[in-house]
Amino acid sequence: MSAPAVIPQADPRAGYLERQADIDAAVGRALASGRYILGDEVTAFEREFAAYVGTRGAVGVASGTDALVLALRAVGVQPGDTVATVSHTAVATVAAIELAGAEPLLLDVDPHDYTLDVEELAGVLEAGAKVRAVIAVHLYGQAARLDEVLPLARRHGVTVIEDCAQAHGAALSGRRLGGLGDIGCFSFYPTKNLGALGDGGAVVANDEHLIKRLRELREYGWRERYVSAIAGQNSRLDEVQAALLRVKLAHLEADNGRRQTIAARYDAALAGSSLTIPRRREAASHVFHQYVVQSERRDPIRQTLTAVGVGTAVHYPVPVHRQPAYLGRVALGPSKLRHTEALAGRILSLPIFPQLSAAAVERTIDELRRAAN
Ligand SMILES: *Cc1c(COP(=O)(O)O)cnc(C)c1O
Repeated sequence: MSAPAVIPQADPRAGYLERQADIDAAVGRALASGRYILGDEVTAFEREFAAYVGTRGAVGVASGTDALVLALRAVGVQPGDTVATVSHTAVATVAAIELAGAEPLLLDVDPHDYTLDVEELAGVLEAGAKVRAVIAVHLYGQAARLDEVLPLARRHGVTVIEDCAQAHGAALSGRRLGGLGDIGCFSFYPTKNLGALGDGGAVVANDEHLIKRLRELREYGWRERYVSAIAGQNSRLDEVQAALLRVKLAHLEADNGRRQTIAARYDAALAGSSLTIPRRREAASHVFHQYVVQSERRDPIRQTLTAVGVGTAVHYPVPVHRQPAYLGRVALGPSKLRHTEALAGRILSLPIFPQLSAAAVERTIDELRRAAN
């Protein structure tokens, strides 16, 4: 008997192949148009994406990292300002703060839903720390506690930036993430819930002035062609990516639904096992960019799964403040990131993507139960 096929943890190629004809046609249309930067496809995608998220505008940029940098600049974060966020996130969140010239202040996360520890943020603000902005990361596809962060931030004059790179289409109390804070940032990295076939990102906002400023910042600060009103940069979503993102955006709701179906099956099969399954918060819809379990025996379980062909990942094995580039150099909250450090050794991301078959989910569950016993 041949060995069963390897189950990947994520598979952006499957997302392409499923809609190959439509994507190829969209890419062909963009290539034939003769306009490759900031043409009709980007304009149409921005309109459609803003309508989907529910904001007045969306601005296509070159990556999720750039979306955060431009958002920080657009809201007026200045060199030397402090920007609070979490250490349990993609390095990009923290890198963007430094790229904008600001100084990160890294806080802990709630050990059950993996998002910003609001009590620590409150303590820091009430102690009088000068925090200019906070980046709330909607990690793994579930909203950070914006219902608590927003009033707190308003009280202290702190701007709220949403990092929605893992939460396209997720909502809090029925409202899609991205438009709840002052400005929202998305990545279209290929494995994200809405993924390009290359790099891409977007910033969304309701404030027309912010949208205008973002458009200037992404293209040399141009107010009009060859007139740089402000000091900008170059960070543009390209026409080819915009064209294929329009195809994928039309299926995002359905694709998120398929992720939720897989997550529900994992929940049912793993409840009562030795593994800690994701905690869902009532008001928050979860779009399961990742399905993350916890175990004291994470490493041996992961090894066993790898040996039998079940792909897993760890998001993330080393928190940002423990990375060589940041160690001992970035400011940490009073908690010293106790939960963040403990989680790094316990978390495991199971296979999840819209095209993952029911049979592959069942095999993952069987192998995982065996490995965890
Ligand atoms: C992917 C990701 C980013 C960065 O996006 P890029 O497009 O890779 O620059 C930022 N924040 C989070 C939480 C992410 O998951």
